Parts: sequence; structure tokens; C-alpha cells
Amino acid sequence: MKIALIAHDKKKDTMINLAIKYQDVLGEHDLYATGTTGTLIMGETGLKITRMKSGPLGGDQQIGSMVAEGKLDLIIFLRDPLTSQPHEPDVSALLRLCDVQSIPLATNCKSAEIMLDALKSKIF
Ligand code: PGA
Repeated sequence: MKIALIAHDKKKDTMINLAIKYQDVLGEHDLYATGTTGTLIMGETGLKITRMKSGPLGGDQQIGSMVAEGKLDLIIFLRDPLTSQPHEPDVSALLRLCDVQSIPLATNCKSAEIMLDALKSKIF
């Protein structure tokens, strides 16, 4: 499966902990991430990740383009709902495209854990 990982700044620690906890299962898949998220995860785990541009510089749109082209199977996007983002239009566009294409999308840690547990159990 092709999985994209994105985390807003205040959710990056959560994303790193998630990646460490699920390193084994994530390592069985092709991973993509926005720039800073990818760099941080690679620094803390042995995971190999294809990095896009940083989110505010177009990374969310690059991930969105992959969704539109049917090149991603699952997205974990740990959003910060309490901080306004300069690239909010890009964020909304990505979420919308996931719904257009029916791509599984987790926007918080618990949802992500349920999806990764399902992957681990080969439920999907
Ligand atoms: P980043 O982008 O991983 O480059 O910080 C995430 C985002 O804010 O969309």
C-alpha cells in the first residue's frame, strides 16, 4: 500500500510516537510525507520515506495530486484544529480529494491507530 503521513507542527511529536509504535507495519508499505514530517520520522525511526515539499510550500498539494491520480491508498494527516494554518486552503483541498476518491483518511491519532491496527491485522 502507498501511505502518506502529514502532521501539523503541534502534532509532530504525536506523529513521531505513532511512527515509532507502528514502525514494523509502516515499514511493509511505501511511505510518503510532507517535508518536515518526513524528515522528523526518518530521523527517529529506520523508516524510508519519499518526501514532498513542506506542507505550507506545496507539499499538501503534491499529496493531493497523488490522491487525485489514485496513487495513494491511505492518509494519516494529524491536523492541529486549534491553530490557524497559512495553507488552510491546501489542507481543505486535500481532505476534499480524499472524500472525492474515497481514500481512507485519519485526521487524529486514535483514528490513525485504528487504521494501522487494521493494516497490522491485514484487515485491509
Ligand atoms: P510539514 O508540512 O511536514 O512540511 O511541516 C505539514 C503541513 O503543515 O501540512
